[in-house]
Amino acid sequence: DAKSGGRGKLRFFDPKMQEAVAQRLLLQQDISRGLDHGEFIAYFQPQFDYQGHITGAEALARWQHPEQGLLAPGAFIEVAEQAGLMNRIDREVLHHACSYMAAWAELSAATSFTLSVNISAARLYQPEFIDDVLAIFRQTGVDPARIKLEITESMLLNDMPMAIGRMQILKQHGVRFAIDDFGTGYSSLLYLQQLPLDQLKIDQSFVRALPDNNSLNIIKAIIALAHSLKLEVIAEGVETEAQRQLLYQHGCEHYQGYLLARPKPADQLEARLQQQLCTRVS
Ligand code: C2E
Ligand code: MG
Ligand code: MG
Ligand code: MG
Repeated sequence: DAKSGGRGKLRFFDPKMQEAVAQRLLLQQDISRGLDHGEFIAYFQPQFDYQGHITGAEALARWQHPEQGLLAPGAFIEVAEQAGLMNRIDREVLHHACSYMAAWAELSAATSFTLSVNISAARLYQPEFIDDVLAIFRQTGVDPARIKLEITESMLLNDMPMAIGRMQILKQHGVRFAIDDFGTGYSSLLYLQQLPLDQLKIDQSFVRALPDNNSLNIIKAIIALAHSLKLEVIAEGVETEAQRQLLYQHGCEHYQGYLLARPKPADQLEARLQQQLCTRVS
């Protein structure tokens, strides 16, 4: 450290810090290489109603790393964001999600299933965002009404009028919108009313803290707010039956979490949907 470096001597370059900077640069180059090689894909985590039927799924980015295996966003998202590479990852995930959704058109209509896709702030404000999303819809042949885009409250702060405008254009094409991690940002209730929203997602931190009274009160307030704005509510990070019951008792309609299903590859989700369709028809 600085003290052991000698009396009165200041060290400006900490070797540990230098090492970290080098690591980040390597990771950044590796993400870029991975994007060029189509290594970023979508996993799908099913969403359920109280009866246990799948009503939708969330597409979540995964990196099929040639040496390190399957990596979740925790391993790359921060560096990707700082390097301006999140746009490309979002694009890949949306493309994958829409391709599968187009292939599942009949299945999804029969089960009234929708697919949620996360978008980053950088992507929402990109000038080519709208054209790009519409091009992906055309290329894949997906029905835009089956796609729900997830944004966060903090993303809206950059330029609220622009965000609203962009959401409204996509809404005209049938796209749905959800606010992700709801309750953790700074949302203005006034703007909430002006956004073309369909769903609020209760952040997993509140669900995890249940049955803590403060968290329960926040959850109750979010559900009441959603219902008064005529929005659907989904709780994420549901890990126990006790959490699911408490959420249900307070009017939450949809559930996503390890208790019900982990994120899984497309073929496994498809198999579950087929199974659900069969048991419903028979
Ligand atoms: P998120 O959008 O809030 O997604 C939910 C995260 O919680 C996912 O983590 C999911 O695997 C995890 N999760 C689901 N159920 C449970 C549970 O019961 N317990 C716990 N502890 N966790 C649960 P994941 O896949 O690691 O993604 C983390 C975050 O990365 C996402 O949070 C989202 O903010 C971001 N992300 C993921 N994919 C994309 C993408 O394609 N684009 C963008 N922009 N962001 C993405
Ligand atoms: Mg999400
Ligand atoms: Mg979330
Ligand atoms: Mg989150």
